[in-house]
Amino acid sequence: MTGLQKFFTNILPAAWAKDMEAESRQWMVRCTCGYEQSVWELGGIRWKAKGNPKQLRRCPQCGQQTWHTITRKTNL
Ligand SMILES: [Zn+2]
Repeated sequence: MTGLQKFFTNILPAAWAKDMEAESRQWMVRCTCGYEQSVWELGGIRWKAKGNPKQLRRCPQCGQQTWHTITRKTNL
């Protein structure tokens, strides 16, 4: 866990912290090459959020700086 994640996990009630982590794991950051990682794995938090934002970042798979799309993956 990153400092940011620890901080929120500590200040939030346990149930909320669990919910926050579960939701952050559903948000996937995807490169144009197809590589994807969850927001949580990347050390971030995305909780109670809507929309599909884009983020400019370097992809560990293709090594390119590309616009990654952030989409929520639900287990349906
Ligand atoms: Zn890539």
